[in-house]
Amino acid sequence: MTNPLLADWDTPFHIAPFDRISDDDFAPAFEEALSAHLREIDAIANNPEPPSFANTIEAMEGAGEALDKVLSVFFSVAGADSNPERQALQREFSPKLAAHSSAIYANETLFARIADLWARRDTLGLSEEEARVLYLTHRGFVRAGAALEGAEAERMKAVKSRLAVLGTSFTQNLLKDEADWFMPLAEADLEGLPGFVVDAARAAGEALEQDGPVVTLSRSLIVPFLQFSPRRDLREKAFRAWAARGENGGETDNREIAAEVLALREERAKLLGYPDFAHFKLETEMAGTPERVRELLMQVWEPAKAQALRDQAEMEEMLRDDGVNDALQPWDWRYYAEKRRRASYDLDESELKPYLQLDRMIEAAFTCANRLFGLEFAPLDVPLYHPDCRAWEVTRNGEHLAVFIGDYFARASKRSGAWCSAMRSQAKRPRVETPIVINVCNFSKPSQGKPALLSYDDARTLFHEFGHALHQMLSDVEFGSVSGTSVARDFVELPSQLYEHWLEVPEVLEEFATHAETGAAMPKALLDKVLAAATFDMGFQTVEYVASALVDLEFHSGAAPADPMAKQAEVLQGIGMPQAITMRHATPHFAHVFAGDGYSSGYYSYMWSEVMDADAFAAFEEAGGAFDPETAHKLEEFILSKGGSREAEELYTAFRGRMPGVEALLKGRGLVA
Ligand SMILES: [Zn+2]
Repeated sequence: MTNPLLADWDTPFHIAPFDRISDDDFAPAFEEALSAHLREIDAIANNPEPPSFANTIEAMEGAGEALDKVLSVFFSVAGADSNPERQALQREFSPKLAAHSSAIYANETLFARIADLWARRDTLGLSEEEARVLYLTHRGFVRAGAALEGAEAERMKAVKSRLAVLGTSFTQNLLKDEADWFMPLAEADLEGLPGFVVDAARAAGEALEQDGPVVTLSRSLIVPFLQFSPRRDLREKAFRAWAARGENGGETDNREIAAEVLALREERAKLLGYPDFAHFKLETEMAGTPERVRELLMQVWEPAKAQALRDQAEMEEMLRDDGVNDALQPWDWRYYAEKRRRASYDLDESELKPYLQLDRMIEAAFTCANRLFGLEFAPLDVPLYHPDCRAWEVTRNGEHLAVFIGDYFARASKRSGAWCSAMRSQAKRPRVETPIVINVCNFSKPSQGKPALLSYDDARTLFHEFGHALHQMLSDVEFGSVSGTSVARDFVELPSQLYEHWLEVPEVLEEFATHAETGAAMPKALLDKVLAAATFDMGFQTVEYVASALVDLEFHSGAAPADPMAKQAEVLQGIGMPQAITMRHATPHFAHVFAGDGYSSGYYSYMWSEVMDADAFAAFEEAGGAFDPETAHKLEEFILSKGGSREAEELYTAFRGRMPGVEALLKGRGLVA
């Protein structure tokens, strides 16, 4: 019998036949699909015909269909519904996949064909999108080191493998420092802590086999402890331990690792012909150059710092009222900020929750997509990997567009967080593929017969992930490698963060935020409080974030610093970091930057996307409202349908008529009047 993962899927819209697949099918299908892909690649590389776009680039686009099928099913269940077998398979598959893609990049015969096409690109009569795909394919190979020869190629291999080892050590040291430290609390030390923090501290004590409650360095425990504990001495002790992660001397100290990583990254960039690592890394981003990133961050820095210092002055008075004769310290900030928050907004989540029903919020997200883009959603009955998953067919003017799957409830087998992935990406060549897109969240599941209720953050997450889903579902390009969310990292959060704005549109909340029991619309006063609370303490949040982003950028600009801690101090001094605020992630525990390559000289990208989403939503407001049809049409035409088929800057400029400015972001964060 054919392995169900590799068979033709005769299901509606060729959705994976989840009910026919068992865990035993994954390993054999994976091996078979890997070798099938390599055979296809070899056939392309050794084609006796001279290279053409069709027999090389388009053929590569079409290769690996079986592998795509196997991985789309496997990664869906491994992330959202894992079990020990699936975890073991994941440990087995990850290094094999890494080796598989390295082998393709190292295929010299294949690269020779790509390089030949690249050299003749102007004579090939390519369409704009074909030229773009050739450019991206060639660039991907060159950046992976395919054009290096001899000693340089060898050195590149050694540098990369050493970087992988250092990244793993960095993470493991950090985990060890986090796991090793805890602070026992006496019953009297619990005073002033809300019930949920006390519960979490007791649970942590039990998990560590202690006699009583403890504070650990887990963000979900230490942050509320710092927010609520009136005991300044305990806050200081906990904060100092938290800030010292990765910097405690001995075997788990990350400072030397950081220095070595930065030196090797610089070497890697120089081997590839870039002046430094930041130039190498930012080449593929919308920002493009370190200069533009620095300019953005500094435009936000000054107003954020000014706001933080105003807030600090207010809190220093509160500190004096408490009889403390000292400057406000980093371990004081969250505590006094929380006091201020309660005094100014007093927003009670439990008052809000009955108005935010999951089903009504899904309806709200669908209705906005209908008003903006004409999409219609009809429930679809197909077997999926878990009974909590729901599917809809997405159509427009009666035509099939995509399948959308929602898997909203938390369960032990699901990893934390929320995400959107395409089980199948849109493409027209060499095969027509319509998207199958899934949103996975971790909302708490109600008891039988009760409606599922969301927090405001949950509702925002639902809209966020649905924004990513729209980017996939409305994709309308030729090639899968540039469809949907296959865009620069600092561009990919634009559709998702932008869609969050529709949740805040008063008419949307009025219609869909209705009370689970009475059906009444959310009162205006409650709505106003929610919206006002959104900008609270933004000076602090922006300062701790921008400081981290600037340190990350300067680490990778110019020569790598021999002493990263000295460099960090120098950067912070240069920007006048307020003494009561620390970096969101200091160097020895800055996992975004040192655990792997993902966000190295890329930590800024969250803010880059936010600048754009604020500016893009302002386009609707300027045009007359959140549902302005012409602006919606432009958003689809120039951004949501185009994927990565053009440069992000070109797409944004086509949508907005200009590049975004920081004004809308500063306003949105409450940093300017
Ligand atoms: Zn996102």
